[in-house]
Amino acid sequence: MSFRISPLWWPFLGVASPVIAPFLLARNCKFKKNRELANNLNEDRLHQARPFDIPELDFLELTILVEEKTERNFLGDAAVSYLFRSNQGSLLYDVGFGPERPALAHNAARLGINLNQIDSLCISHLHPDHMGGLKASRAKCVTVPKELGIPKGQPCFLPDKAVAEGFKCELIDSPRLLTGGIATTGPLARSLFFFGLTEEQALFAHIKGKGLVIFTGCGHPTIELIVQMVSCISNEPVYIIGGGLHFPVTAGRGNRAGIQFQTVMGTGKPVWQKISDDDLSDTITALNKFNPRKVFLSGHDSCDHSLARMKKELKAETEVLRAGMTYRF
Ligand SMILES: [Zn+2]
Ligand SMILES: [Zn+2]
Repeated sequence: MSFRISPLWWPFLGVASPVIAPFLLARNCKFKKNRELANNLNEDRLHQARPFDIPELDFLELTILVEEKTERNFLGDAAVSYLFRSNQGSLLYDVGFGPERPALAHNAARLGINLNQIDSLCISHLHPDHMGGLKASRAKCVTVPKELGIPKGQPCFLPDKAVAEGFKCELIDSPRLLTGGIATTGPLARSLFFFGLTEEQALFAHIKGKGLVIFTGCGHPTIELIVQMVSCISNEPVYIIGGGLHFPVTAGRGNRAGIQFQTVMGTGKPVWQKISDDDLSDTITALNKFNPRKVFLSGHDSCDHSLARMKKELKAETEVLRAGMTYRF
């Protein structure tokens, strides 16, 4: 059994409990308020979503720049950076921990990828593992490693207020087409205990004769809500689901100082409740109902136990995304 917070911390937490307990209770009030706010926001957005034309793509190719699992000679990280290329253009989805950790610069160099080759940048949500690191997240400034080159005013599609130097920032407030024939669900909200109200946008595209490809960042709004939003816009069948689903059930990734941050910070529950196997069972049932042909799992925010359960219990063929790989849909 692994502890979310190492027993070494417990004496300190015991001593500090007169301060920590009222803080957590106040936080819980805010968390509950945000939960209501998120539900209302999402309900309104689903209600307002209208179908629009999504081009039928001849192909969509996904190159994984950053992921937890990797091909040989690529660096792994508990973060996300995916490059989508289609017959209509390209879009870079997230920039991992940016310049704070070596994975993105190293892997992009190995793949010969730089910013000159991308039509736009899209940030799923403003968390450090997606927008360029802790400093980037604190400053709400998307940060890309210098090694990727200098942006030339390409659009940067953001789900919430932030800046991105060298890019033309566009705040996304509803579902729409981006670049490369790829569409966004628009922001979907989730109340997270420590991060507060978190807005996240997922991507989707229509592959000719096959159906919809849907990709998430961390998957905080839940895949159930993301697919519900996509189905308000297109009634094509779901062909592929991929990306983060946020199931650190038995352990977190990228743990620091004896704390499994993913199991404590990014969950949609009060801090004293864990993401459980029952929660995962509910999502597996939902995914099976959506009936995709294939599911591409992200190891960046789900533990090996959860990945193994999904591989076993999903009806769809599954594959764990690996940095350095290119998948063609
Ligand atoms: Zn993440
Ligand atoms: Zn996140």
